[in-house]
Amino acid sequence: MKRDKERLVDAYGRGIRSLRFSLTNRCTLNCIYCHGEGESREQKDRGEISAELVIEIARVASAYFDIRKIKFSGGEPLMRNDLVEIVQGMRSFENDISVTTNGLFLSKYAAELADAGLDRVNVSLDTLKEERYDSITRSKNNLPQVIDGIYSAIDAGLTPIKLNMVLLKGINDDEIGDMVNFVRECNKRGVQGAAILQPIELMPSFNPPMLQYKPNFGKVEDELKSKASSIKTRELQRRKKYIVDGVEVEVVHPIDNTEFCANCSRLRITSDGKLKGCLLKDDNLVPVEQVDERHILTQLKLAMKYREPFYR
Ligand code: SAM
Repeated sequence: MKRDKERLVDAYGRGIRSLRFSLTNRCTLNCIYCHGEGESREQKDRGEISAELVIEIARVASAYFDIRKIKFSGGEPLMRNDLVEIVQGMRSFENDISVTTNGLFLSKYAAELADAGLDRVNVSLDTLKEERYDSITRSKNNLPQVIDGIYSAIDAGLTPIKLNMVLLKGINDDEIGDMVNFVRECNKRGVQGAAILQPIELMPSFNPPMLQYKPNFGKVEDELKSKASSIKTRELQRRKKYIVDGVEVEVVHPIDNTEFCANCSRLRITSDGKLKGCLLKDDNLVPVEQVDERHILTQLKLAMKYREPFYR
């Protein structure tokens, strides 16, 4: 029987449309700026949320509320051996399932994940220069494998693939033009629009020394605006989309952006199974401890009671 969905709305009138699960704290890279989805790095060895609980939280949230998107992040979500099982488990009731990944395991798993029902991927790619890549990710010689992973994801139809580029002043902020060219090459491989460039404003609050690398994002946006043949605004967090030389560039500019927070429609789930209303807030986390519909419903409603915008 089809049930009328309630709107899961917080005290600020903000409804929830998407769930963002952190599936693990573990990662194959160690990016200099990483916020780890707002989870402390010291908490490395906590237990990880089970596949069964991930699927049940998504099922209950989607059955009762108007959830339209599921995103998996981390840590590195492709380090979970049961990611295929998780995607398969929610395919029947979710329409838009995506993963944010560093891309290192994508050439191995892209086809299998696509078969399981994954719709899209975001791949973190801050630079196309190997030396820069090594120093940003504090790793060695991984860039070629990431590029292969991006091609595999396009070939598997995990599109539009978004390339997440965190802008770092004096490190990679001169590479937007090169990245636009790379996206154009990716588009030649798949259908037009197979890849989208997503420059992201650095959030330094998790790692204060990173403040020195925070670029003037307003200036970056002005430059994109001057080059764009058209500009659109997405409903999600009022993100701007610029079409530059035929390539879609969607900017994520959250800092001091009250409009971004006012339009946030995301609820997060930490890698140890707690509901989290905001990336930047660590208080009032709501644990989900049982694979049980009533319990999950109660906890979802409680998390919404606590949820408030960071910038307002
Ligand atoms: N390991 C996966 C990856 O590399 O994409 C998923 C986890 S990562 C935390 C998720 C996204 O957060 C990445 O696209 C990354 O660029 C972004 N991110 C991490 N730290 C950030 C920061 N301090 N400011 C802005 N974005 C950040």
